[in-house]
Amino acid sequence: MKVHGSCHCGLIKFSAEVDPKLTSVCHCHDCQKLTGTAFRLSTPAIAGTFQIESGEPKIYVKVAESGSRRAQAFCPECGSPLFTHGVDNPSAIGLRVGVLDERAQLPPTWQKWCSSAMPWVQDISQLEQAQGNARNS
Ligand SMILES: [Zn+2]
Ligand SMILES: [Zn+2]
Repeated sequence: MKVHGSCHCGLIKFSAEVDPKLTSVCHCHDCQKLTGTAFRLSTPAIAGTFQIESGEPKIYVKVAESGSRRAQAFCPECGSPLFTHGVDNPSAIGLRVGVLDERAQLPPTWQKWCSSAMPWVQDISQLEQAQGNARNS
């Protein structure tokens, strides 16, 4: 399936092919920090299909406890997280699902690092559901 990515300000655009069955949720502390939220959604690009269409992302190299180094690409203007790859394996690219036009067609099929998941995150379906910014009450 072809996907089209863009950051919030529109400076960076990219495209790739993905297998929609491989989308995952990551609850690790690094993903919480790097997104500013409770978890991250990613999906791998099929090797050789990733292309930057416009703009030049900024790269932050994150070093894991294991010592593995991952490049985190984001927009230098608006900060949107865009994609990631191993510093030593640049062709294995993971796309950040929230910046893809096709994100609604990429529901996650598994979740990882559940040991650091927020304790409430598995069940938000019972929370009050406003359709916009304002509370109902
Ligand atoms: Zn941007
Ligand atoms: Zn993570």
